[in-house]
Amino acid sequence: MSELPKCEQPGCTGHLGKFDDCKSEALYMLTLDGTDERTGDVDFGSCLSLVILASDESVALDDGPTVILPSGAYLVECVSSGAVYAWREDDESSARATFDALDARYEAWLNADDSDLDACVAAVRADMAEDGATDPDPYVTDEAASMYGVTRADVLAALA
Ligand SMILES: [Zn+2]
Repeated sequence: MSELPKCEQPGCTGHLGKFDDCKSEALYMLTLDGTDERTGDVDFGSCLSLVILASDESVALDDGPTVILPSGAYLVECVSSGAVYAWREDDESSARATFDALDARYEAWLNADDSDLDACVAAVRADMAEDGATDPDPYVTDEAASMYGVTRADVLAALA
C-alpha cells in the first residue's frame, strides 16, 4: 500500500478523503460537542460552523497526534461531498461576517423552499401550451412536483 499524504503536523498518520490535514480534523472534532454556532446543512450544499477559541486548545485525534490549535476564530465547512474544510480567520468579526453571510443565504434558501403550487401549475401549463397538449398527466412528474414542494396529485387537481 502506498503511504497516505501527510500534513505538516508532527505525528501525522496521513490523510485520505474527508480531511486535508490534522488541523481540519481537530477543528471538526471541536464542532461535534455542539457548542459551536452552526448554519446550513448538507442538503443546502454547505454546513458552516463558527468556532471561537479564547485560548489555545489541544485536541487528541483518534489514532493520531495531538493537535494544538492557537486561540482565534475558525470556520469549519462541511460540503455535500462529505469533505470538511477548516480555516482560521483574521479575527472574530471577519469570521462572523462570513458565517452571517452564509446564514442569510441559508435562511433565504429555506424560505424559498416553501411550496409553490401556482408556479408549478404555470410551468406545466407553459409546457403543455408549447406542445398544444390537452392532457396534463404526462407533464406532471413526481420529481417536478417535489421541486416545487407540492405533490403530483395537487398539481393535477389544480389543472383539472
Ligand atoms: Zn495530518
